[in-house]
Amino acid sequence: MKVAFLGLGAIGEPMAGHLTSDPIELTAWNRSHEKAGAFAAKHSVDSAATPADAVRNAEVVITCLPSSREVMEVYSGETGIASGISKGAIMIDCTSGDPATSKEIAALLAKKDVEFIDAPVSGGVKGAIAGTLTVMCGGSEASIDRARPVLERFGKKIVRCGEIGAGDAVKAMNQALLAVHIWSAGEALAVLARLGVDTRIALDVINGSSGRSNSSENLFTERVIGRAFPRTFKLALLDKDVAIAAEIARDNAVSAPFVELAARLFSEAHEILGEEADHVEAVKVIEERAGVQIS
Ligand code: NDP
Repeated sequence: MKVAFLGLGAIGEPMAGHLTSDPIELTAWNRSHEKAGAFAAKHSVDSAATPADAVRNAEVVITCLPSSREVMEVYSGETGIASGISKGAIMIDCTSGDPATSKEIAALLAKKDVEFIDAPVSGGVKGAIAGTLTVMCGGSEASIDRARPVLERFGKKIVRCGEIGAGDAVKAMNQALLAVHIWSAGEALAVLARLGVDTRIALDVINGSSGRSNSSENLFTERVIGRAFPRTFKLALLDKDVAIAAEIARDNAVSAPFVELAARLFSEAHEILGEEADHVEAVKVIEERAGVQIS
């Protein structure tokens, strides 16, 4: 089975790493060619110079790019996916994208007799390396069933959320919850630090109590208390995700003040901390504003 993978970023690279053995014949493409070359050499697979070359003759095309805007860019143009993709192929977009653009791309592909599913993932770089990602899919049952053998290479929980765009919508709302959890846990610990409470003890208590979250359990001990902020998932990407969530709420006339506030706070944090900051570093903005360091 010929598969093309486009976008060897922090999570794309380990995902693609699961697609390098039989019966899959992989071709990788990345904007910075040296990354694709190094990946191809390491895994003894092919790399291509352009998206069009990568997808030529591929039955399955996977994209994993920052946002739907880049997916549309890589799709279009003289050397884009559109000019190389074969009739009968399926495109799986693992980008955390927005439903409106996914529907637009799906409609363009349908004219070429190519199926599309949005299939954003969750589980972080660790989950990608372990092959245990959650994959939330939007598209027809038949398309998702067709994609499943490939998705199973890096995904453990593969779920159809609804029609095209539904995977993106579920992912955006998950990310809004992640943002709310990070910010609220940061605020709680900043207040406790100001009170003079040992925040390591406080976090341990919270993690044994009803205020705990995945963020407080799996991110805060190492990163906030331990002051190690490994760059696994960019703050810029979380900002993008929460903005999508807020837009979906607005477009559908649902009052969502928490999501709106999270979108504003993470946009501010992104502006303050820059493009390379990790998402958990947003806590540094809370600390700065409170005039206190949590640990
Ligand atoms: P990175 O920023 O690490 O990588 C982005 C990738 O997109 C790189 O391959 C980059 O190429 C490429 N790219 C950026 N801009 C363009 C462009 N204009 N045209 C073509 N290629 C481009 O992102 P991640 O791998 O972390 O994230 C990818 C997607 O997965 C995002 O939607 C993110 O929200 C989602 N995600 C990420 C998780 C994580 O833990 N990292 C977890 C779950 C979802 P180049 O190498 O040239 O810069």
